[in-house]
Amino acid sequence: QSSSYFLHLFVAVALAGAATMHVSAPVALPLGSLRLEGRLSFDESDLSSAARDFGNRGRLLPAVVVRPASAADVAATVRHVFRQGGGRSGTLTVAARGHGHSLHGQAQAAGGVVLSMESLAAGGGMTPAVVWPGAEAYVDASGGALWIDVLRESLKQGMAPKSWTDYLHLTVGGTLSNAGVSGQAFRHGPQISNVLQLEVVTGKGEVMNCSDKENADLFHAVLGGLGQFGIITRARIALEPAPKMVKWTRVLYSDFRSFMEDQEMLTSSMESFDYVEGFVIINRTGILNSWRSSFDPQDPVRASKFDSGGRVLFCLEMATNFNREEVESKNKQVERLLSKLRYIPSTLFQSEVSYLEFLDRVHVSELKLRSVGLWEIPHPWLNLFVPRSRIHDFAREVFGKILKDNSNGPILLYPLNRIKWDNRTSAVIPDEEIFYLVAFLSSAPSQSSLEQVLKLNSEVLEFCNRAGIRMKQYLPHYTTQEEWRAHFGDQWDRFSQRKEIYDPLNILAPGQRIFHKAG
Ligand code: FAD
Repeated sequence: QSSSYFLHLFVAVALAGAATMHVSAPVALPLGSLRLEGRLSFDESDLSSAARDFGNRGRLLPAVVVRPASAADVAATVRHVFRQGGGRSGTLTVAARGHGHSLHGQAQAAGGVVLSMESLAAGGGMTPAVVWPGAEAYVDASGGALWIDVLRESLKQGMAPKSWTDYLHLTVGGTLSNAGVSGQAFRHGPQISNVLQLEVVTGKGEVMNCSDKENADLFHAVLGGLGQFGIITRARIALEPAPKMVKWTRVLYSDFRSFMEDQEMLTSSMESFDYVEGFVIINRTGILNSWRSSFDPQDPVRASKFDSGGRVLFCLEMATNFNREEVESKNKQVERLLSKLRYIPSTLFQSEVSYLEFLDRVHVSELKLRSVGLWEIPHPWLNLFVPRSRIHDFAREVFGKILKDNSNGPILLYPLNRIKWDNRTSAVIPDEEIFYLVAFLSSAPSQSSLEQVLKLNSEVLEFCNRAGIRMKQYLPHYTTQEEWRAHFGDQWDRFSQRKEIYDPLNILAPGQRIFHKAG
């Protein structure tokens, strides 16, 4: 059993051979005339890596991996495939692959072309942060850059992006194709609300710049667009001054209503923390022994004595950014905010870490799990956006009734504000001002635990269906167009019209299984 708890993946033994390898029939690739600065690889190990992802649930082998050295290489590859008739004629498709952290093969292309976007980043993908007095600061990052590298580059100028994911070893293009949410999103919106400009290669192989002002429809289509309309080769990301330190606080609740109301109070107030997230803890005793290892409570003895007594508990995690000279005023602010909360008084735990350490916190768990070979196992995650009006019904049924414990992995639950999302983007969220991200981040170390988690996931989805809870899946996974239409609801027409304009031959991101090949 793993010694750390939050936001890491729970594992006991690696499951060998859990993912199924689907080998496509060899394709006679019409790539002979393709000339690139970068490289093509038909190497078995490259093809095999391009067929893997974090979900580890299935593998579709591509026919070739392209390592582009420039946006021109990306465009030449897509244009080449477009001229061959692309996905419509039943032959070639192209998947941009970020860091391969998809859950269901979304970055795979069976018998097609996988563009390894990290090669693009390696070819000098980042320009230093630009900071002009009176103007919005930004950094230009490659679509294949990891967020941790965007952070490191921005910090050289004392700046940082405003909105994050919990884990930074994901690519800019990958998270912007979904949304990118974490505990800062209540204030700044998701990552897709913090992009000033994009350079995109469309499904016709054209390189286009787009922003709110220029080619605005393409700009909005691509943000949250599940890779369907273009490949992001560069993104201009808005920055803010970076703090040096973070005061990191955790408290526990046993009453869901107080937990939820306190979260909503914090995420709607002008004066608040800089980061707010919640977690659900079901039927674990001695939980504080196993808090995520990166969180080091100042009072570990008291922390280790806390006993949940088998109750469902809710953990509120908050962070305040500060610089040394503001430490007193920030401490007072934290005290003022904490005094308004209704947590169990003996459960206040605090720590101070550097801003970089805080943002990169999940990587600590990743390294531990990797070192014992327990990172690359199946991850049957389920991520939902649940409307606020039904979050009580959801919690009452799911926590304690459907799920009797959360030994399969952490469960996140925190509110997001619709007003911070731009409804011109392709992202799909519930039709309410406040909705909750509920993320079941399960790991399956054995075939039986995989089956058990999949059954529980189905029960949660069936309950939502039965109870008429109009949730939306985040990082959605569907296999039929009927399900996709239901997911997009009244946005479907716009989504499919955009596909017709920007990727008429259905070349891009076939692993999402939204638009099927005709052949
Ligand atoms: P990939 O998985 O490689 O690609 C994802 C999709 O985007 C594919 O369809 C692919 O074809 C397409 N794509 C990739 N690059 C581009 C590009 N340049 N242009 C256009 N399309 C592209 N998400 C959150 O919002 N918040 C979190 O806190 C969070 N934490 C996570 C923690 C872990 C440990 C993991 C594994 C994932 C987490 N995610 C989180 C989910 C993450 O945002 C998605 O997995 C996303 O797919 C990013 O992965 P990637 O960069 O590896 O992209």
